[in-house]
This record gives sequence, structure tokens and C-alpha cells, in this order.
Amino acid sequence: MFSKILIANRGEIALRVIRACKEMGVATVAVHSTADADAMHVRMADEAICIGPPPGTLSYLNMAALISACEVTGAEAIHPGYGFLSENAEFVQIIEDHGLKFIGPSAEHIRMMGDKITAKETMKALGVPCVPGSDGGVPTLEEAYKVADKMGYPVIVKATAGGGGRGMKLAKIREDLSEAFSTARSESKAAFGNDEVYIEKYLTLPRHIEVQVFGDGKGNAVHLGERDCSLQRRHQKVLEEAPGPAIDEETRAKIGKVCSDAIANIKYSGAGTIEFLYENGEFFFIEMNTRLQVEHPVTEAIYRVDLVKEQLRVASGETLSFKQKDLVLDGHAIEVRINAEKVPQFTPCPGKVTTYHAPGGLGVRMDSAIYDGYTIPPYYDSLIAKLIVFGTDRPAALARLKRALGELIIDGIDTTVPLFHALLKEEAVQTGDYNIHWLEKWLAANTPPKP
Ligand code: ADP
Repeated sequence: MFSKILIANRGEIALRVIRACKEMGVATVAVHSTADADAMHVRMADEAICIGPPPGTLSYLNMAALISACEVTGAEAIHPGYGFLSENAEFVQIIEDHGLKFIGPSAEHIRMMGDKITAKETMKALGVPCVPGSDGGVPTLEEAYKVADKMGYPVIVKATAGGGGRGMKLAKIREDLSEAFSTARSESKAAFGNDEVYIEKYLTLPRHIEVQVFGDGKGNAVHLGERDCSLQRRHQKVLEEAPGPAIDEETRAKIGKVCSDAIANIKYSGAGTIEFLYENGEFFFIEMNTRLQVEHPVTEAIYRVDLVKEQLRVASGETLSFKQKDLVLDGHAIEVRINAEKVPQFTPCPGKVTTYHAPGGLGVRMDSAIYDGYTIPPYYDSLIAKLIVFGTDRPAALARLKRALGELIIDGIDTTVPLFHALLKEEAVQTGDYNIHWLEKWLAANTPPKP
């Protein structure tokens, strides 16, 4: 095991990693921008180093500063958290070139899955079911028409380098294709410096189901069931739960095995998430994330595992500490993403938290780095807390969520908490009968959300 690691991230996820390290006896180095000097992850780590000015590009994305920070502090490995450099193959290469370890998969696997066309081809070859679509990239509008006309509308044009919902455009009918094609390309070029796009059949009422996988790079691999992340706004997850309300035990075992076999086959190392759209009882692969996900705590709750500790074990060369038969699903967990945003417009709302009181009690986990008097800087993601609840079954988890939200106090800024109070009153949320479009439709009909 490592004796000291550096965490190349901030906020709740930096704190999450520090917590795992403390329990394992691994020393931690926090890094921070000048805007984050008073951040909780800086206070909680054993050591902290300032790596640059506020903008992410000059601090949390500054590879040279991160490597130097390892050299100065003697950290042997880097945990990237999620976002920032967590899926950057070049960063992994540089880390290894400096004799350090990356706590995550190999550069090769990150590259393979980071390019969505290559990822889809790889998964298809490994027997994972994929969304029908173009064979690889679609370079011209003429080609796009050929593919889409043959497949039938609606179709979705997607950037091979895409992420965070960007570079993705829907063409409901043939007349929409020309604009969808050019916008997806230009958006992708601007965001990712790559304008290659591909085309997929647009599924009309799917759920977003993702399978948590874990490999040790030696050919051992397991799955930890699925999460349902269908409640989305602008293709971004808002609430996640596990197990998925629409997935039964047999279906879980079947898709889980397809996924764990696939990653065992490629000798994948570390945590990963294989994302699917699920419609009419069928799974369609959309992408693989080669990192820890924001919503990993719901899986931890129902499988009683610590995914971050396992990441450290595997990165330090150990074999997986659990086998498939050790992983027994128990109960139900729900996570809500609390953002510093004003609803219903969802405009960012950074500023000073004048009062903070976290909920507690049985089955409640609050992953957050805010505190009384903390000023949320305007430079970063607006996620400020994740409230995770778990209970014996879905109704118990929902009742607990309502109770915990009622205890939570965050004063001084606006947050997305009122949205969750309102959502809990909805029948579709109570029964779990929703798909990826449900929330957008509900928001359009219920603006502003009733507190
Ligand atoms: P990103 O990497 O930008 O998050 P994904 O490929 O993971 O993009 O897709 C994000 C979301 O976009 C999905 O959860 C789903 O809501 C929607 N989406 C993507 N592909 C399709 C498709 N073929 N049909 C319908 N919706 C889709």
C-alpha cells in the first residue's frame, strides 16, 4: 500500500478520498488554487500545497504543478477524483514517466473509452449490446443522410470526444439533420478540439442504467449492480438510485456478467462505469466512464463496500479484495445532487454559506465540503453536497430522503433543495416510473417548482 498520496481535486470528492485514506493509514496531500485556501479538503489533509490561481486550467488542470507537488511532498500516487484530469490519458502517461502511480486505469484504457467511437467498437466486439448507429465516424453531411435515412428518424448526432452532454444534437426529422450535424461538429470542435461525430438511433423513452464494474488489471473483475440515473436535466444527472426500480435480479445478473466479462477480457484495472440506455427490456451501451462517478455512494450503500479504498488497493498492485459471490445487494439507496443554483432557472449561485446544518441519523450520508461561514467560489462546478440515504427498500429510502431534506439547512445561498422537496411529491418519483425525459417535461410544466 502507498504511504502517501496526492489528491488532484477539490470539494466533496477530495474530502471523500481523504476520508478513505485516513481509515487506511495513508497520508494525504491536498492541492488547492488560491481561491480554495480555506477549503475543507485543505484543512482535512495532512499536507496542502497551493498549485495556482483560481481558474481550473491554471491550477487543478495544471499537470506540471501537480507533478511538482508530488515531488516536493514525496507523494507516491495521484487520485484524480472525477472531472478535471480523471480521464486524461496524457496525464496518466506523465505520472508514470515520473515514476509515480495513477489511481485509476491505464492510459491505454482511458484512451480507448475516451473516444466514443472506439469505445463502442470495443464493446461491440466484447459482446456488449450497443445502440444501433453508424459504423464509426460520419465525416460528411451526405454520409449522415445516408446513415440516418437508412436507420429512420429520430437520430442523435454525437461527438466522439463528447462528455458532459456537449456535442450532442437531436434530429427528430430529416429536415433537422443538416443543422444537428453542423452544430454537433462545431460544438465539439470548440469544447474538445475534435469535430468527429457519429450517429445513433435516438431512443425515445429509455431509462439511463449504468453498471458499476471493478477490475484489478490481472483479469479479475466484478460488477456491483446498476444505478438508475434517469432523472436528468440537460443530459446531466440530478438524482440517482440503486438498485434500478425497473431492473429485476435476473436482468441484473445477466447484464452485470456481460459487463464484468468484458472488462476482465481487456484486463481493465480500477473502477469503471458502463452506461446504457434501457428500453423495452433491452440494454444499449452508450459510453464507459473510466473513473469513480459522482453517484458511487449509492452503490457503496447497498453493497457495503468502499470503492475508494478498493481503488487504492488495486492501484498499489493488490488483487481485488472481493469476488462476485461476496457482493450481495441489500436495501435501496438514493442520492440527490445539491447544487449552488437558483431554481427554476438553475443559475449558479456562489456566495457565503451563513448557516449549514447537515442531516443525520440512521441511513443518512452527507458528502459535502461546505461549512458554516464558507464562501463558495464562482470558478468551479456548482455541486456543493450529495445527500445519500439508504433503507431496507425503496419506500423506506424515499421516506428517509424526505426526512433528511427536512433537517438540512443551507442558508445564505440558493440551492437545488426545493426541487427535491417538490419531486418527492410526484407520483412518478414515488413509484419509480420515469425515463430520461420525465424531469425536463415536469420542469417545463411546473415552473417554478413548488417548495
Ligand atoms: P455524455 O458523455 O456527454 O454524458 P452520453 O453518451 O453519456 O453523453 O449521453 C448522455 C445522455 O444523453 C444519456 O443519459 C441520455 O439521456 C442521452 N442520450 C445519449 N444517447 C442517446 C440516444 N441514442 N438516444 C436517446 N438519448 C440519448
